[in-house]
Amino acid sequence: MFRKIRIAVLLLILINVGVGAWLARARTTSWEYPLRVAVFPINGDGSAVSASYISNLKRDNFSAVAQFMRSEGKRYGSTQTEPVDVYLAPEIHGLPPPPPFGGNPLQVGFWSLQMRFWAWMHARFDGPKPHVQMFVVYHDPARVSRVTHSLGLQKGLIGVVNAFASDEQAAQNNIVIAHELLHTVGATDKYDLATNEPLLPDGYAEPDKDPLLPQTFAEIMAGRIPSSATQSEMPSSLDTVLIGTKTAREINWVR
Ligand SMILES: [Zn+2]
Repeated sequence: MFRKIRIAVLLLILINVGVGAWLARARTTSWEYPLRVAVFPINGDGSAVSASYISNLKRDNFSAVAQFMRSEGKRYGSTQTEPVDVYLAPEIHGLPPPPPFGGNPLQVGFWSLQMRFWAWMHARFDGPKPHVQMFVVYHDPARVSRVTHSLGLQKGLIGVVNAFASDEQAAQNNIVIAHELLHTVGATDKYDLATNEPLLPDGYAEPDKDPLLPQTFAEIMAGRIPSSATQSEMPSSLDTVLIGTKTAREINWVR
């Protein structure tokens, strides 16, 4: 008898989690109202440079992300004039659990649970409840020339972005934030994981351009502007980035 009750309770919880995830996905990709994104800054290296950079952050520092989604949404005929609202949330003192890069699906799944629990424990925001939580971990560029990968989880609607604490890098940080944000609403990567080069055709912003190369824009989920068949460049800001047709389909902008 107890066993049956226990199984019934577990089943109910599972159904609840499943339906919850399905509802969250349906809600975040309906684009009927602006998707609220809260950016939580984190001092990633404990440096004074990162601390001072974070203390000077304003909501405006991330307005390029909202602007990018607005202009791209318009280009795809979206009726939602403000696809996303980006807010600046308070700084979090403490680092999120490190992701298992190259880990097996079980390790990744476990990390995703840990990450959601960590977010639930630490993310506090005195404003409208955010749909997407974006944790931006800042590093002093004088200490590291490269930061580790960033990632975005559709399950849990969470992004972790490793960024540089510098005004010169702010425009590129916003590219990474937009990329991870799009992951949370269902977009997939469109670059070759071995070479980092954009995949043809979906990783090209203008796959029908004639001549095809060099491209002028980067596709957001490929992240680079192809200049030749084997070479590509980092875009300097979201001004030279577009959302490709496949990404637009994945996030439900195109049917
Ligand atoms: Zn990605």
